[in-house]
Amino acid sequence: MMRRIGTFGLIAGVTAGLGMLSGTPASATDLELTLPIDCTLGRDCFVQNYVDIDPADAVMTASCERAGYDGHKGTDFRVLNTGESADVIAAAPGIVKGVRDEMPDRLVLSEDDRKQVGGKECGNGVVIAHDGGWETQYCHLRLGSVTVTAGDRVDRGARLGRVGYSGFAAFPHVHLSVRKNGEMIDPFLGTAENARSRLETCEANGSDPLQYQDALWQADINSLLIDAAGKIIETGFADNPVKSIDVERAEVKTPAAGSPAFVFFARLINVRNGDRIALRLVGPQGVLAESEGKPIEGQKAQWVAFAGRKLKQESWPAGNYVGTAMLIRDGEIIQKETSVLSL
Ligand SMILES: [Zn+2]
Repeated sequence: MMRRIGTFGLIAGVTAGLGMLSGTPASATDLELTLPIDCTLGRDCFVQNYVDIDPADAVMTASCERAGYDGHKGTDFRVLNTGESADVIAAAPGIVKGVRDEMPDRLVLSEDDRKQVGGKECGNGVVIAHDGGWETQYCHLRLGSVTVTAGDRVDRGARLGRVGYSGFAAFPHVHLSVRKNGEMIDPFLGTAENARSRLETCEANGSDPLQYQDALWQADINSLLIDAAGKIIETGFADNPVKSIDVERAEVKTPAAGSPAFVFFARLINVRNGDRIALRLVGPQGVLAESEGKPIEGQKAQWVAFAGRKLKQESWPAGNYVGTAMLIRDGEIIQKETSVLSL
């Protein structure tokens, strides 16, 4: 019988870690972007990091949040783990200006790792030139996957390669940089001037609804900004306490009847200061583990929380194991996710 409620406590890991004219009236200098990745946002892929519009040693992103890191010059579309990928596709039509496809897919987890990719932070990548002085750059592609060469003309949506984690990448993703006449542009804001005034607004007001008229995206901006506000992107079970890197590498082992522990975990992105992740694991004979979660200190790009119990008998009983994770902010449940495992 398992009457006592036990938890391992929570451990958290942080990983740092075009130019075609639109059909409708638009000026000759407008760039319209579609997603640089072929996936279903919110299910297979997520926006992990946004452009840092604060030139100082601080972070501010387009929706007056801090869903990025200091000096980040693009938008990162991630897949769930290194076992997953997706096509990287042209966000607008143009001409391929340059490619690189020679670097290994290797997660950058330390300063030493970072030094090894110094000067080649983009990893395997593609640069496309568009009309009006615009340029898009796609980074961290999987080694050997680049399908275009310099001089190629590509349509919107043309396949450029596959999502990987070459260069300065702590997780598998495609980083999209947008430039006009060499100047970095946040595609959510459209011009460098807009980014400057947006920073002032965010600093003055704390938060402020984003005006979308100058954004370069064709898609609904809300669907792209939603990940900036924090999200549970995965829940699952493990046979031991969960490490962030194991989740990133899809190396978490599902528990079996004789596993040393039964653990439920939740993985989040863009968690905010003060957020809590409440977890509950219920087995066929009752509650195995439960935690209200401690308030998280500071903004976290990635976060893994887990709760579980060690095996203190012959084996785990057959039946359904139900894990529930809740993201709680200011006392309100922002998101609730449930996973079920049958033994
Ligand atoms: Zn990036």
